[in-house]
Amino acid sequence: MPTLTEDFFTNPTSSLVTVRCTPWVRDDTFALLCVAAHAVVPFFGQGMNCGFEDCSVLNSLIDKHNENWQLILQEYQKLRKPDGDAIAELALNNFVEMRDKVANPKFLLQKKIEAAFSKKYPDKWIPAYTQVTFSPQIRYSDALKNSIKQQAIMDEVMKIEDIENCWQSELIEKKMLALLS
Ligand SMILES: Cc1cc2nc3c(=O)[nH]c(=O)nc-3n(C[C@H](O)[C@H](O)[C@H](O)COP(=O)(O)OP(=O)(O)OC[C@H]3O[C@@H](n4cnc5c(N)ncnc54)[C@H](O)[C@@H]3O)c2cc1C
Repeated sequence: MPTLTEDFFTNPTSSLVTVRCTPWVRDDTFALLCVAAHAVVPFFGQGMNCGFEDCSVLNSLIDKHNENWQLILQEYQKLRKPDGDAIAELALNNFVEMRDKVANPKFLLQKKIEAAFSKKYPDKWIPAYTQVTFSPQIRYSDALKNSIKQQAIMDEVMKIEDIENCWQSELIEKKMLALLS
């Protein structure tokens, strides 16, 4: 980058935007994919990944509908629009988390409790970040729904008196299992 300084000072910085638009497709001829359909803020590092998922879903629909583009594009939009909206919301939420919470002892304790519970019950609890980042089988829209449910549970757990000292107790584990069911 030989002209970095010049580039830096002569190019304006842009706003970070979220694009939520609809429809994404038109008849059997046109479709928006990736950032053109769902530009997101960069705080989950998922923009490219979500674009690749669009391609992968579209590819499987081409096979499924035997190149009937009317059906392919309609189903592509139906499947992917909720996930595009969800990753947009998750990325905005992650900005707030990184900005406000990562130095908060109570938040860090919550993450510790979740990690310990998840280690013991991996089939019952996958931390929200892991669902989004390391679980290709989980759709963004499901990860968002699950993360809202998990947060509601953790809000209850974090209200427990003296949680700082009793979080490893059986009582807390039972409470989390009960809230989950
Ligand atoms: C700094 C940065 C870091 C990122 N880090 C991550 C990350 O860690 N993980 C992740 O998943 N994603 C990341 N992303 C997001 C990722 O880069 C984008 O989500 C992805 O590139 C979007 O792909 P796209 O094909 O939709 O658009 P783009 O990659 O923007 O491609 C659009 C193309 O269209 C061309 N074009 C535009 N107008 C015209 C025109 N009129 N005629 C012809 N061509 C045109 C452009 O030149 C460009 O080549 C990052 C983005 C940035 C900027």
